[in-house]
Amino acid sequence: MDSRSPTMVSAKQYIGNVWNALHSTLVGMRITGKYFLQKPITVQYPDQRLPIPDRYRGIHYLEQEKCINCLACARACPIDCIEMDAIRHGKELEWVSFTLDYQKCMFCELCVYPCPKDCIHMGTEFALVTEDRSELNHDLLSFKGMAPDARVRMKEAEVKKAAKAAAKEAAAAQKAEEATAEEGGAEQDDASPESGGDTGGGEA
Ligand code: SF4
Ligand code: SF4
Repeated sequence: MDSRSPTMVSAKQYIGNVWNALHSTLVGMRITGKYFLQKPITVQYPDQRLPIPDRYRGIHYLEQEKCINCLACARACPIDCIEMDAIRHGKELEWVSFTLDYQKCMFCELCVYPCPKDCIHMGTEFALVTEDRSELNHDLLSFKGMAPDARVRMKEAEVKKAAKAAAKEAAAAQKAEEATAEEGGAEQDDASPESGGDTGGGEA
């Protein structure tokens, strides 16, 4: 049996509660104060971003100028995420599309290794936030059609080809002319008196 009066017990309890409240407040304030003075480890994303390691496997990027449309990356993809379309003009490419479907991609990097031109890479960008799933089918092309220097190269190749064809034609024409002249000369030789032709002059 507790010999203390109920008033004494409740007063002691009250003081204990006040002490507990004060103590826990002070402990909380001490922790808050400690972190308040430290440099924050979080950042205000997306305005601020933490550095991302170089080997991070994020959204792909394509060095389109180097790509030769060989399809090696598309064939290596285990879930057929990559599709591409380009029209070939001799050695040059006119690009229509090069899409990668991020609804399916699992960022395995298997498409990167077989590239003979080392032109498809995994970048450090990772944000794929959208309200429309169709936007997750990214076109990696930085330009459509032909690159300006490819167009120049194609024009130069066309000019060279035309010059070559013209030279070939001229050579053939000259050859034909020479052959005609040779034939004409031979006929003249046959018809001349020294050659003993139809005139009978040689016998006189
Ligand atoms: S990372 Fe993997 S899944 Fe994604 S496109 Fe490349 S090969 Fe396909
Ligand atoms: S493997 Fe490389 S060069 Fe071939 S299509 Fe893919 S990105 Fe282009």
